Parts: sequence; structure tokens; C-alpha cells
Amino acid sequence: MTISATPSLSILTIPAFNDNYLWLIHDGVHAAVVDPGDAKPVLAALKQHGLKLTAILLTHHHADHIGGVPELLQHYPVPVFGPHKETIAAVTRPLGEGSRVDVPGLDLKLAVLDVPGHTNGHIAYVRGGEQPWLFCGDTLFGGGCGRLFEGTPAQMISSLGKLAALPEATLVYCAHEYTLSNLRFARAVEPDNQALKDRVAAETDKREHNLPTVPSTIGLEKATNPFLRYREPAIAQQLVAADKLSPGATPLATFTALRLWKNDF
Ligand code: ZN
Ligand code: FE
Repeated sequence: MTISATPSLSILTIPAFNDNYLWLIHDGVHAAVVDPGDAKPVLAALKQHGLKLTAILLTHHHADHIGGVPELLQHYPVPVFGPHKETIAAVTRPLGEGSRVDVPGLDLKLAVLDVPGHTNGHIAYVRGGEQPWLFCGDTLFGGGCGRLFEGTPAQMISSLGKLAALPEATLVYCAHEYTLSNLRFARAVEPDNQALKDRVAAETDKREHNLPTVPSTIGLEKATNPFLRYREPAIAQQLVAADKLSPGATPLATFTALRLWKNDF
């Protein structure tokens, strides 16, 4: 299914496992895959669309994002881009904040951001221009953010801040379909947010029709995602009312309490 396109580049959504999305960026001939946790569905999509793989892009080291790399390399010995701060055996092009990727085979240039928090070396890929794209792995999700497996709340705040600073029209290609469960939590922490109510209705409708809620946009996330809105007084008030936060807490304490509450919501 083609869900977004420029005159030359399209992005195919490849579902994998229970709720992962692998992204295949292509020009009708060549393709780059983002976070191929599984090779089989990627190989099937390449075959179905008559594409040749020319690059692999990785955001972080978790198995559901890199597990398919060895098998893909057996079929296509392509460069593997990934975070220089993480140990991923297959990576041949280590990247960090400020790196630029001229994606082999495609007319596509990506900028790299360090976005630690979910993991310590997590990176995101950004395409600028008229229709910006963000590939953010498990950092920013539809209505939520990644769990803090390795990093601190302060790191995640800084990482999400970098993503929130991107143009509002930026399409957010995250790696999981977690949106509805994230929005259930968002409703609990910000019940009076009308944009959030509207989003719940729209995303529920998509899922009922078996459509992905991803990509969203940075503008929509800023209007509805509590992990970008933790400075809103209404959110802190709700946390206090739920006995998850002391009155007068700092934004860092508010974000920390929000992330902890979500963990067992
Ligand atoms: Zn992960
Ligand atoms: Fe993941």
C-alpha cells in the first residue's frame, strides 16, 4: 500500500510481528528499508513490487528492528547504516548527530539526530524539503513515546524536543502500531483536549478498517501526545489528582511521572 509519495519516492508500509512497521522507501526500481526486524516480509515486498534493495537503515539495536538484516544481506550485500553508539555487528556506516546519509540507489538525503532514551544510542532519520519525513524508530509513537529501557527521562525529553521542533507537516514514521492504546492513556491524562478526542475518533475508524494510523504528523503529535505536552498545566493537575505527582512539581518530574504511569496503565 502506498501511503505517501513525492513525484519520485514512495513509502511502502510492511507490517511485521504483532505490531511492527518496517518502512520501504523506493523509486519504483531501488529501495531502502528502515528497521527490518524480519527479512521475509521485506523480501516478499521487494519481489511483489519488482524492487532491488540498495540500503538498510537502522534506528537502534533491538531485535525487532535488526533481526532481518543478516538474511537480507545474503540476498543483497548493501551498506547498513546505524547508530555509532550501539553495537550492531552488521553496521558498515556508523552514524550520529549531524551525520548526513546520501541513500545509495535513491535520490534521497537524510539527516541524523541522536535521540537517546529508549536506548542509549538511538538515532532518527529526517528528510527535509517540501514534504518532510521522520523515521524515529521507538522514540516517538502515535500518541506516545518509547519505554526508557536504557536512557533517562531527561534524555527522552531532550530527544522528543528535537523531534517536536521539526516542521508540523513532517510525516512521522514510527516503528509500531501502538496508537490506540497510547491514546487511551492520553485521554486519561488530558480528558478535556478536543484535538485528542477528534484524534481518538479518527484513529479508531482507521483501525476498524484495518488501516495503519502511521504515519501521523508532528503537528498532530504536538496537539495530542502527552509526552510532548507534559508542560500543559492540565496534565500535571491530572497526575496530581491521580496521586502520581506532588503539586508544584518540575516539568522533569511531571514527564517522569507520566512515563511511569504509562508503564502500568
Ligand atoms: Zn525498541
Ligand atoms: Fe521496537
